[in-house]
Amino acid sequence: MELLNIKNLDLAGKKVFIRCDFNVPMDEFGNISDDRRIRSAIATINYCLDQDCAVILASHLGRPDGEVVEKYSLIPVARRIHHLLKRDVIMAEDVVGEDAMSKAASLQSGEVLLIENLRYEKGETKNNPELSKKLASMAEFYINDAFGVSHRAHASVEGITHFFDNKHKAAGFLLQKEIEFLGKIIQNPVRPFAAIVGGSKVSGKLEALINLLPKVDKVLIGGGMAFTFLKKLGYNIGASLVEDDLLDEAGRIMDEAKKLGVKFYLPVDVVAAEKFSEDAISKIASSQEIPNGWMGLDIGPATVRLYREVLGDAQTILWNGPMGVYEMDKYARGSNSIAHFIADSYATTVVGGGDTADLVQRVGLDDEMSFISTGGGASLELLEGKILPGVASLMSKKD
Ligand code: AMP
Repeated sequence: MELLNIKNLDLAGKKVFIRCDFNVPMDEFGNISDDRRIRSAIATINYCLDQDCAVILASHLGRPDGEVVEKYSLIPVARRIHHLLKRDVIMAEDVVGEDAMSKAASLQSGEVLLIENLRYEKGETKNNPELSKKLASMAEFYINDAFGVSHRAHASVEGITHFFDNKHKAAGFLLQKEIEFLGKIIQNPVRPFAAIVGGSKVSGKLEALINLLPKVDKVLIGGGMAFTFLKKLGYNIGASLVEDDLLDEAGRIMDEAKKLGVKFYLPVDVVAAEKFSEDAISKIASSQEIPNGWMGLDIGPATVRLYREVLGDAQTILWNGPMGVYEMDKYARGSNSIAHFIADSYATTVVGGGDTADLVQRVGLDDEMSFISTGGGASLELLEGKILPGVASLMSKKD
C-alpha cells in the first residue's frame, strides 16, 4: 500500500479542495502567535497554484461545537495566508452556505478561496455524509494536507474522500512527509534507536509505549508519567502525579522491556516542589528521597547527565512529551537541557506532540531537529501502529 501522491494527479487548470490544518494558537486580541501550521501548508498550495488551479482551502479552528462563534473565525488566517502567498485570498462568510457555494462555483484559475471554520457546521465532527457531499461538490480534486486531524473521522477528512476516485484525491506534501518520516523511523530506524517519552500521564501514551517497545533499543521516561513507574518500583513519590490504576500496567511495561532487552530508564532525581506553582519552595531530591507531600515537577540534574550519557550513541532519537512542567521556567530546565543535547547530536531527531514541538520552538531549536511533527494526537496514533482514518482512504495498492 502506498499513499496517493499529489504529483500523480492531472491538476492543470482544475478546481482543488485542500483540507488544511490552520488550527493555530491566537492571543486574546486574535493575533496569530505561531503560524507554523499555516506555513507548513504553503508548499501544497503553491504547487496547485503553479498548476493554474483554483484553490479552495478549508480548516477548523478551535472548538466552536457546531455554532458560529466569532472568535473562531478564520479571517485572521486568511490575512496570514495572503501575507505568505502574496496574493489575494477570497474569504467566504460560511462553510457550505450560499456565500461559500457561490464563491466556490465562480472561482477562477489562480484564485484562492478560504471557507469559514469547518466546525461551524455540526456535521463536521460527526462525519455527516451530507456535509461531506456538499464540500466535495465544490471541487474536482481533494487533497488532504491536515496531518493534525487525520486521526479523526470527520466530514472534511474521511467522509469527503469517498466522493473522489483515486485519480482525483491525494495526500498533500505535508501529510506525505509526516507519514513517510514517522513510518520510516518506526519501521526501519538506524540503531541504536532511543525513545524519550514524557508528558503528564502514562494513560495518554500507554498504547504508543507498548507499540514502541519491540522497535526501540532504549526508552527514557520523564515528566509526570515517570512517577507511576517509580511508585511501582516501591519508591515514595510524595504528592507527585500518579495513576494508581495503571501501576500494574507500568509493571508489565517494565517486565516486557526487560524481556525484549530494551534498556528502560527512569529519572534518578527530580526537582521537587512543595506545591504546583512557580513560586513554590523547591529542591533537588533523589527519586528515592522525595519528601512526603512534595511533588516532582521536573527531572533533576543527575537525570539530565544520565540521559545525555545514554543518548550519546543513539543514531535515531524520537521525543514525545516534556520532561517536566516546562510551561513554568522553574521546571523547564530538564526539558530545555534535553532539547539542547539532542539538537546538537548527529542522530536523526524526530519531535512529536504539540507540547514537545512547542517547547523546542520556545528555546529556538526547531530548525536543529531533523523533523518536527505538526500533529500531537495523530503522531501518537501513528506510533501506536494505527492506520489513521483520514489516511486510510488515500492509500492505493502498489502496481
Ligand atoms: P501530555 O499532554 O501528556 O504530553 O503532557 C504535557 C503536560 O505534562 C505539560 O503541560 C506539562 O506541564 C505536564 N507535565 C510534565 N511533567 C509533569 C510533572 N512532573 N507533573 C505534572 N505535570 C507534568
